[in-house]
Amino acid sequence: MTDLHPFVAGLPKAELHVHHVGSASPRIVAELAARHPDSKVPTDPEALADYFTFTDFAHFVEVYLSVVDLIRTPEDVRLLTYEVARDMARQNIRYAELTITPFSSTRRGIDEKAFMEAIEDARRAAETELGTVLRWCFDIPGEAGLEAAQETARLAVDLRPEGLVSFGLGGPEIGVPRPQFKPYFDRAIAAGLHSVPHAGETTGPETVWDALNHLGAERIGHGTSSVKDPALLAHLAEHRIALEVCPTSNIATRAVATLDEHPLGEMVDAGVLVTINSDDPPMFGTDLNSEYAVAARLLGLDERGVAGLAKNAVEASFLDPAGKRRIAAEIDAYTENWLAR
Ligand SMILES: [Zn+2]
Repeated sequence: MTDLHPFVAGLPKAELHVHHVGSASPRIVAELAARHPDSKVPTDPEALADYFTFTDFAHFVEVYLSVVDLIRTPEDVRLLTYEVARDMARQNIRYAELTITPFSSTRRGIDEKAFMEAIEDARRAAETELGTVLRWCFDIPGEAGLEAAQETARLAVDLRPEGLVSFGLGGPEIGVPRPQFKPYFDRAIAAGLHSVPHAGETTGPETVWDALNHLGAERIGHGTSSVKDPALLAHLAEHRIALEVCPTSNIATRAVATLDEHPLGEMVDAGVLVTINSDDPPMFGTDLNSEYAVAARLLGLDERGVAGLAKNAVEASFLDPAGKRRIAAEIDAYTENWLAR
């Protein structure tokens, strides 16, 4: 089989499920750590690479939180956001919906208006200087409860930055039932935001149904366990509700035991609109290009098949119709040029 990596590397792509702090690469973390020398995070790239080698999931959470601790000022927020876009541009990601948890920052004392200005400034600069269009999904950190939900909805609706398109729910699923967040999703949806909760990553298909029936989900973050319920798969396929699949993340969090057992193929066979995403890429030792290569292998795809996956993400995005047509045309032109070499 041909090595698809060079094709994937140049392919224009859209990413729909990727977290802001979770995208901080060792390079970005080193810059942030250098700004805050009192932090325990190493600044030397080699020591950082060791620091990013996770022994288990608890270690991952510890590292994630230590990176959160480096985001202390609006300048840190701006640097993180712009540098994440730079890493995306290097992978030919043309459009990304970045999941941001503003509550983590405002709770830590960052002024909420300054926070919004920082992400918006980075967004405008990324678009003009790097050619990567960013949009935001503000998500509720589920583990922080209803106070966090209330605050996230207020920040999303009352301060609504220009780039905000959707409202999400992350954090652990076990012990955090989805229906309790209905009032906050109702508020965000009434304000014109799209609903994109995580569901069915570490719990069963009933959580995906909850996300659909109670939170008005238009796409599902992960939705891995949907394959256990044929009626759910049929519903997702019929209503073109996309799944945001993050294969390597599913292995890292043990939602799926091995890549070869990943249910991506069953989702595709059921006619579900699947999109390929990287979730917390440096923390899971991956990037979007690697995830496309994994998906190509699991699904046995050639170049046109991979281009089809990239177009799925464009279709399932919340980009305006003209923007969707532009990126889809770029994908087609790139693919045909590649195959005509
Ligand atoms: Zn996620």
